[in-house]
Amino acid sequence: MKKIVVKFGGSNLRKPQDIDRIVNVVQTYQRPLILVVSAFYGITNALITCVQAAKEGAGTKAALAESQSYTQHLRRLKRELIEANVADQAQRERIEQALAVRIDQLDRYLTGIHCIGDVPTFVYDAILSYGERLSSLLLTEVLQSRGIQAREALPEDIGLITDGVFGNSACDFAASKESVAQALAGEGVVVVPGFYGVDRDGKATLFGRGGSDYSAASIACCIAAESLDVWKDVDGFLSADPGTVTTPRSIAQLNYLEAAELSYFGAKILHPRTVEPLFDQDIPIRILNITKPERGLQPYTIINGQRKVTKDVVKSVTSTDDVAILKLHGPGVGFKAGILARVTNQLDSLGINIKSVLTAQTAINILLARDHLDAAYAALAEHHLAGVVEVSRNAEVAIVAVVGDGVLEASDVGSAIASRALSAAIASGVRVCLAAAGASEVAAYMLVHQDDTKLALQAVHAEFFGA
Ligand code: ASP
Ligand code: MG
Repeated sequence: MKKIVVKFGGSNLRKPQDIDRIVNVVQTYQRPLILVVSAFYGITNALITCVQAAKEGAGTKAALAESQSYTQHLRRLKRELIEANVADQAQRERIEQALAVRIDQLDRYLTGIHCIGDVPTFVYDAILSYGERLSSLLLTEVLQSRGIQAREALPEDIGLITDGVFGNSACDFAASKESVAQALAGEGVVVVPGFYGVDRDGKATLFGRGGSDYSAASIACCIAAESLDVWKDVDGFLSADPGTVTTPRSIAQLNYLEAAELSYFGAKILHPRTVEPLFDQDIPIRILNITKPERGLQPYTIINGQRKVTKDVVKSVTSTDDVAILKLHGPGVGFKAGILARVTNQLDSLGINIKSVLTAQTAINILLARDHLDAAYAALAEHHLAGVVEVSRNAEVAIVAVVGDGVLEASDVGSAIASRALSAAIASGVRVCLAAAGASEVAAYMLVHQDDTKLALQAVHAEFFGA
């Protein structure tokens, strides 16, 4: 029988009682499962702060005391979780001991930073993986203490091999499939920490922030899973952010492209790369809400390969402010051969990813992640590019996107979508600086002044879904 991969993220792991809910969900399935877990809410951020502080204060007593106080804090946190979830005293002590061994490993890495005054990338990735390693160990132990057959399996033990890029790796499926499938076979529940795989030397490499979704998808691909079930605390993908729009709809079905574009354009529910490993085998992703146990295993959103199943094209309106515009001005930049090649080479050498390029005769607009803007500006303003008379930058923008399979189709409905979205925004006074349709078959987007993001989302959502 095919297995289901079940992912629990940081939103399911905030309070001691959350563990109970997870145990209940696991019991509801009544079949062998692979669980992939994230770190407890906020732990990864705290580890990043901790590494930063250790690096900056390397060698000083104060900084060493600070990292030790953080690992002390982790020990206390874990003790609280164990006390709230395990009744038997002997079992509690055994679990605490097992977790202490792991926290000691983390301690040694942090002490290492103090000694050498630097954080090599492989050490950084190893340290950040400890949030997930603590979750998987704790959950395995709690499941066992409740009489559920469970074991922990670390990515290094099951051979979840990556391309070796620290901080932002991808799974090497050819190298992983056989060993992962073999290691995860058998009865019971197997708990795997998300967020990282290992390079060919066995060093942890992270899948990027929010990467546990991608871990779960990679494992689902390796074992040809029946489905990837992602548990959240919301009703699946929604037609808009509930913080901005008062009555967003829950979306029953999305195809892989729509889910990927929605995540790319700001929907925080899944890591944008989660669908990649599932595409070929058409493994569905089911999004379920852990706060609604009465629904059992019925998902809110199913993501699969089925295209164009609704007549209303637009499924969701989303936004992200992780964007900035770098603009190259010159009377003929749009016409000059080779400028873009030089620009992309320059940015590539700095590890800067270009999100999009929109050109006109007198300007080239390059869309970048906001974090990259200043470095990109400095590099291009410094290196004179023939034909470019001025370089300017603008970080006060946000992207608002409409996503749905068919937004570009030459049908009556499809071809009107982008213009309806744009008109709705402009009519309500939104300052639109750029608009684009055509880059993907399922998304059209505009760049608006960042102060108008909310207004734009509300206007565009009302246009397609009513108020
Ligand atoms: N804990 C990691 C992060 O915060 C991975 C994840 O949550 O998926 O980025
Ligand atoms: Mg997450």
